[in-house]
Amino acid sequence: MSSSYSASCNVSGSSNSSESMKDPYPLWKFVVKGDKISGGGGNYNWKCNFCGEVKNGSYTRVKAHLLGEQGKGIQVCNKVKIDDLAKLRKLHPTSVRLGSSDNVKKRKSNNTISDAFNMKSRDQFDSEISRMFYTGGLPFNLTRNPYYVSSYTIAANSNHSGYKPPGYNKLRTTLLCKEKENVDRLLQLIKETWKTKGVSIVSDGWSDPQRRPLINIMIASKKGPMFMKAIDCSGEIKDKDFIATLLSEVIDEIGDQNVVQIITDNASNCKVAGELVEGRYPHIYWTPTLKQ
Ligand SMILES: [Zn+2]
Repeated sequence: MSSSYSASCNVSGSSNSSESMKDPYPLWKFVVKGDKISGGGGNYNWKCNFCGEVKNGSYTRVKAHLLGEQGKGIQVCNKVKIDDLAKLRKLHPTSVRLGSSDNVKKRKSNNTISDAFNMKSRDQFDSEISRMFYTGGLPFNLTRNPYYVSSYTIAANSNHSGYKPPGYNKLRTTLLCKEKENVDRLLQLIKETWKTKGVSIVSDGWSDPQRRPLINIMIASKKGPMFMKAIDCSGEIKDKDFIATLLSEVIDEIGDQNVVQIITDNASNCKVAGELVEGRYPHIYWTPTLKQ
């Protein structure tokens, strides 16, 4: 008997929707029907095309197995993927006529099926997303990122059911450039106030996660602070001349007439660099941050 079972899980190619409306038992197509069980009504031995397990019972149990309906006296299939489930669910006719008490019952049972379906797919989504975190080493903090939530809700509520998230290359090229343009556009609103209100240049030394020595440059103005750049100082000696040159470059980039003051910490090299800048641009003040 087992040789008569052929495995095929092709959900999408199996039938069109008008055909499935006529067939009251469309899910038989996704199992291989074996022997009829004698004296058992509509009970057969059957083998699931998805998991390959041999089961027995009527169409109700086939449906429960494939659609993940709990409490129907049969184990639910653990090989039916979310995509398959959605298609299988669509195949199953849900012809409900309004009016008769019989149909109220029918509708109620359909709700239960749909609840079970929703619960199963929710569980599968949750597992899938959690695995992405565990296998990718993603910090759990990412769940607090508003774009984490919105990316899923937008994808789930959009009509593009075939949507695929961007891959490695798209993320580091086209999309990165596009987002940089977007940020530049947003910052333009802040930059426009620099001429009229003036700015402070704030700078401090820092190390990035790879322990590279960085000097970062922030621009503070009435509209708010803005990160301008971080300079990798690997292999450089961060003496007074190096820092003075760096700050002068930033001042020229912004336009020295727009700069009111520069703020650095009170380290001796920064102090002298500040004095050098004050000498070069008499209208700009150097202000040290207080030592903690
Ligand atoms: Zn199965």
